[in-house]
Amino acid sequence: MSSYALPGWLWIIVFLFALIGGASIFFRLKGEPTKPEHHSYVEDNMYGTKWRWQWISNRIFDPWCYCPRCEATLVYDDSSCHRFSYEEKKTNFICENCGHSIVASIPGGDKAYALGAVEREIDRRIRTGEYKKH
Ligand SMILES: [Zn+2]
Repeated sequence: MSSYALPGWLWIIVFLFALIGGASIFFRLKGEPTKPEHHSYVEDNMYGTKWRWQWISNRIFDPWCYCPRCEATLVYDDSSCHRFSYEEKKTNFICENCGHSIVASIPGGDKAYALGAVEREIDRRIRTGEYKKH
């Protein structure tokens, strides 16, 4: 009886491993085609500078800009939107590494507006298929 019981338990273990292996292959094959092609699109030039972002569950996450000359992370200045003035509302993006020069300027609103404009532009380039030219 004991000589029969041991292979029986081994078969159950082998069967369980096969089941886990089969399930993981199934979910991997099933999961891959759902990832859209444009998720590899994470960098482009917009408003005269270089932008990078991530994709998290089909949404653009954390877009930010970098200096096209020296790759430094740009800092923003949307003070024209805060104070009372007749100045046009805009957000400037400044490179501290290039003598605090204004690298990019997005008209229309503050930092949140500017990032929204960039997201809309990314979205537009995906819809028109323009992003594939890069
Ligand atoms: Zn720079």
